[in-house]
Amino acid sequence: MNEDLKSHLEFFEELGIDGVRLEPEWRSRREPLEPIEPTEPGEPVPSEPTEPTEPVEPKIALRVIREELGADCSRCKLHTLGRTQVVFGVGNPSADLMFVGEAPGADEDIQGEPFVGRAGQLLTKIIEAIGLRREDVYIANVIKCRPPGNRNPEPDEVEQCEPFLFRQIDTVKPKVIVALGKFAAQCLLRTNDPITRIRGREFKYRDAILIPTYHPAYLLRTPSAKREVWEDMKRVRAILGGET
Ligand code: URA
Repeated sequence: MNEDLKSHLEFFEELGIDGVRLEPEWRSRREPLEPIEPTEPGEPVPSEPTEPTEPVEPKIALRVIREELGADCSRCKLHTLGRTQVVFGVGNPSADLMFVGEAPGADEDIQGEPFVGRAGQLLTKIIEAIGLRREDVYIANVIKCRPPGNRNPEPDEVEQCEPFLFRQIDTVKPKVIVALGKFAAQCLLRTNDPITRIRGREFKYRDAILIPTYHPAYLLRTPSAKREVWEDMKRVRAILGGET
């Protein structure tokens, strides 16, 4: 069995899809999309000039960012709205692949780590399906504190928190950033375009290629969308493997 078909089937099995479609459109491979300039749909926001004169190890730099954010951050109202702790980010400080989600949920708020609940377990399977381990990648959210009742983050919360994400990105310097779901994708790309329009495309973002895909929580509700996520993850694997 060829390697691509094998990993395709393993991915479906891992993700609990118990059938494979035989229609031609599922068999044909999509041509890779041209990366487009960041002027479309939005310019990435520069982070504060924090470049030290001497290069600092990413692990140390992340620790500095984490300390500046603070374990008891009170920059936005979320610290008064029931969050248990700040959920900074986790993973390889020099990862080639970074995942960005929206905000911690209930499990993440308790454990202090992004994507550890049901959606997180699915994300771990997605990572493993392209031959990586969770600890090989870096995972963070746009905002670091749980919004009450898992509501969407509000603009003032994002405004206060996103500079820390930008600094995480500039420190890790991933080759590929996967934006998980509408909120993260729209926030990073500075666009209101629906996720259905931006997914399946690739964007130059800072020094990385940004690939928007569906949020794992959406996949739990809509398993049929796993097929599109697998397409996106195959592109991620190809880019990381040196294909353009
Ligand atoms: N959803 C997110 O966007 N981030 C998490 O960390 C968990 C669930």
